Amino acid sequence: MGLEGNYKGIMVYSEDIDTLFELISKSRELANQIQTDVSAILLGDRIEIIPNELAAYGVDKVYMVENPQLKGLIAEACAESISIIINRVKPEALFIGATKRGKELAPKIAEKLKTGCVSECVSLDIDKAKRDFIMKRIIFGGKVVSTHTIVKRPIIATIPPRIFEKKRIEGRAAQVIKIDLEIPSSKFEILEVKNKVVSGKKIEEASIVICGGRGLKQKEDFKLLDELANVLKGQVGCTRPIAADRGWFTEWIGLSGKKIKPNLYITVGISGAIQHVAGVRGAKVIVSINKDPEAPIFSESDYGIVGDLYKVIPALIEHLKKIK
Ligand SMILES: Cc1cc2nc3c(=O)[nH]c(=O)nc-3n(C[C@H](O)[C@H](O)[C@H](O)COP(=O)(O)OP(=O)(O)OC[C@H]3O[C@@H](n4cnc5c(N)ncnc54)[C@H](O)[C@@H]3O)c2cc1C
Repeated sequence: MGLEGNYKGIMVYSEDIDTLFELISKSRELANQIQTDVSAILLGDRIEIIPNELAAYGVDKVYMVENPQLKGLIAEACAESISIIINRVKPEALFIGATKRGKELAPKIAEKLKTGCVSECVSLDIDKAKRDFIMKRIIFGGKVVSTHTIVKRPIIATIPPRIFEKKRIEGRAAQVIKIDLEIPSSKFEILEVKNKVVSGKKIEEASIVICGGRGLKQKEDFKLLDELANVLKGQVGCTRPIAADRGWFTEWIGLSGKKIKPNLYITVGISGAIQHVAGVRGAKVIVSINKDPEAPIFSESDYGIVGDLYKVIPALIEHLKKIK
């Protein structure tokens, strides 16, 4: 493909600060391979992030737009601002965090710029010789990994939170460029913002997660997992059928649910369907408890315990309490 026109550099945007750090870190790694810059965009009616916080993850330039029309980060106003910045700066790639807002925003920008957009990528690479961006995404409910490139520039890709690691680099500073824009008034107005009530820590932030599947016969049996979580200071999650079919909980872990990257992931009575496993690929250590020695989850696990969860979990709790 090669460089199209004068497009150069990688640009990132996410309204979610952790996702932004992750995207900057990954972009820094890619930019080093092709000796180019990484820039980030900050939008808002009042921006509270200090641009140099972004430098600590490897950004070279920060484009900041503070404008009353950006209150509530309505997609139309954000798409307009980002498109104008792109037309001025001409980066070869724009990576957007695939949060709910990012997923709405990215295709709007692609349409304005008449370029391609690959959504929810799980890997980003560069073919250095061709200077092509290689993006992978999981399709058909997790059965197939598709590989994409985009011939036009800039390429646009959205990347879900927690796909890449945040990596701090000490001693860097970023150039901050404040941009004044005329943003047309929006057709929408935000009347009220209600924050979702989350009890305890978010499952995505837990370093130890114990996940229960259909091997648990009734909702009350999750108390066993709560007890194990108490001992290990972890969080409890479940598979999709437990939440979506049985209605015991509201969220689940997996491709269509929460994607997590804990240090330790313990599966209890889970078969290991690809749609489930796709959401925990980044887990550092996976321990599985299943009574079926042929369960597919064992081939995804670092350690496996073949046995009845109703015997294994109480024994595990007792042993952990003893050694504590
Ligand atoms: C488009 C699409 C998206 C999906 N997204 C997701 C998703 O995000 N997350 C998700 O989880 N699923 C998802 N699914 C569903 C997925 O395909 C599986 O159906 C689901 O993950 C199976 O859940 P499970 O492992 O709890 O149940 P099962 O597959 O029924 O497995 C139960 C396991 O428990 C074991 N077991 C039973 N009793 C005991 C016992 N006493 N002790 C020990 N082991 C025992 C059994 O041997 C079995 O392996 C999706 C499906 C589709 C089509």
